[in-house]
Amino acid sequence: MSENMQQVDVRAIGAHPDDIELSCAGTLLRLQSLGYKVGIVDMTRGERGTRGNAEIRAKEAQEALKILGFEFREILDVGDLQIFDTHENRIKVVECVRRHKPSLVLTHYNRDKHPDHEGTGDLVKHSMFVAGAANVPARFEPHNPKRLLYWPSSWMMECNVYVDVTDFWEHKIRAARAHKSQFFDPNSADPTTTLSQPAFFDRLEMRARYFGDQIGCKLAEVFYMREPIKVNDPMQLCP
Ligand SMILES: [Zn+2]
Repeated sequence: MSENMQQVDVRAIGAHPDDIELSCAGTLLRLQSLGYKVGIVDMTRGERGTRGNAEIRAKEAQEALKILGFEFREILDVGDLQIFDTHENRIKVVECVRRHKPSLVLTHYNRDKHPDHEGTGDLVKHSMFVAGAANVPARFEPHNPKRLLYWPSSWMMECNVYVDVTDFWEHKIRAARAHKSQFFDPNSADPTTTLSQPAFFDRLEMRARYFGDQIGCKLAEVFYMREPIKVNDPMQLCP
């Protein structure tokens, strides 16, 4: 099968099939509405999750993609609960970045309850540099994304980029709910998780409302940017 070489402006990389929807889909929808092309990548199929299985989750992930309307969803399939910052995994991420040439990449912050979220944060951070290096044993032309933003998952951290997603919240939640096996279902026999508690979506919205309050809007998603920003006209910081 030929590889997907479609160029996108923005690429989000999540550990499991529902991570992007829950963390940054509002921001991606906002970018899409501004005319940018968005592609999403799951590091795993979520096959070792407490609820659902690989087959169910693959169908749910495709349904979510249809709702979001992004260009594509790719799975690197490095193994659920096995996302390590190894050379082999870096080459997979490097080739994926080189194929799609995004300017902006979003991923997990590497301090989290789930080891795969931490693993993805480290792996993506280091692969961004390697993707631009000429002499690495990876295919395709070197490419350096311009900016990498990290989203918080289980635990809060200090964030410095806030995005108003008020107009995109309902759309984001509709896509997130496509991952049905992961959320509250009174008829499911699967064990309960943090996500499957009945109040989960209320808590997610409460968090977004708190972030929104910091920037004077109803609902926001937040990110941490590690690099300093170069500013030619400081008045651009005064919207
Ligand atoms: Zn996850």
